[in-house]
Amino acid sequence: MNPTDRLHIVKGSITRMATEAVVNAANNQLRAGSGVCGAIHSAAGPQLAIECNAIGWCDTGKSVITDAYNLPCKKVIHTVGPDLRPWAAAKLTDSPERLLASCYDTAIDLAKANSLKSIAFPCISTGVYMYPKAEAARIAYDTIMKRLTSDYDGEVTVCCFTDEDIESYRQLTD
Ligand code: ADP
Repeated sequence: MNPTDRLHIVKGSITRMATEAVVNAANNQLRAGSGVCGAIHSAAGPQLAIECNAIGWCDTGKSVITDAYNLPCKKVIHTVGPDLRPWAAAKLTDSPERLLASCYDTAIDLAKANSLKSIAFPCISTGVYMYPKAEAARIAYDTIMKRLTSDYDGEVTVCCFTDEDIESYRQLTD
């Protein structure tokens, strides 16, 4: 199948995705929070927080993998997007664009390393972390397409939660 046919843009909740892996928009401490993170932790059940606590930390732009517990997927890949809230953005160690691209890259690296043939991403950093949606969609789309055309032969789903998210991707794929 050609690469563009292996990218799917859908609307819905990440907790409903039956892909082999789903990606969590996590924080550095890997704690349950609001948005995607809160939804994933409450759908997965309390064992997910226990496993995340044992890992303890994930750097911004990096990813870690855990079991999925009560979620329909097999594994959860937790990635930490750049936080663009003013007090946090000043502490970033690289450009927001490179850090956001690295979230998609490191998550796909883990999917590959664990032989996971399908992965669903939420729109990382575009909620609480305030990354402008259109710009984040362009970075996500470019990074995912680069991997689909080079070394990842699985399927990638971008799970949009709002009409604004869907619109950002529609403008890129039309
Ligand atoms: P971040 O802290 O990385 O910004 P958020 O969870 O606050 O992460 O938001 C990231 C994106 O995920 C936002 O565009 C938000 O609308 C969307 N979102 C919120 N809840 C869900 C969900 N259950 N499934 C998929 N996307 C969601």
